[in-house]
Amino acid sequence: ALAPQQLKDLKVELSKNGVFTTTLEELYNWGRRSSVWPLTFGLACCAIEMIATTMARYDLARFGAEVFRPSPRQADLIIVSGTVTKKMAPQVVRLYNQMPEPKYVIAMGACAISGGPFRDGYNVLKGIDRYIPVDVHIPGCPPRPEALIHAFMTLQKKIDAQSLRGSDRPRHLQSGAPSEFP
Ligand code: SF4
Repeated sequence: ALAPQQLKDLKVELSKNGVFTTTLEELYNWGRRSSVWPLTFGLACCAIEMIATTMARYDLARFGAEVFRPSPRQADLIIVSGTVTKKMAPQVVRLYNQMPEPKYVIAMGACAISGGPFRDGYNVLKGIDRYIPVDVHIPGCPPRPEALIHAFMTLQKKIDAQSLRGSDRPRHLQSGAPSEFP
């Protein structure tokens, strides 16, 4: 059997001659990362930047991710875009639990990451990653659409690198990973 680097070199060599090869895993990940459907869900001012990212100027559709779904049952990604109050946190976790695997989370903005300007308040969560696993954090108050696009591309790279067998496989295929969060 060829070592991974040898396989990579062989693929490059073949592609120079017009022969393209792939593996089932690469094809599967290519399909997944090219059709990440986010949940239609916004919490505060950061959501306005998320909405702007889907408009013609920034065109999130280029990444196959323009199909925001109204139901968590049809979504692959939740973008936590805004301030998470303690009252709202259980609903965010509930939506996350209702999404089918494999699923991903982007924490957009200072509020979603740490509570942002409201972190010293009595009613704001100091980071949604205390309750659900976050794949990509975006700093900023608010982050610009370019930052969300960068986070999205980072997520695509993460999906691309996931294998169905190794330690980097999607969360739901890892032993011991909780299927539901409290
Ligand atoms: Fe609003 Fe800033 Fe919080 Fe985003 S990080 S929700 S822009 S206060």
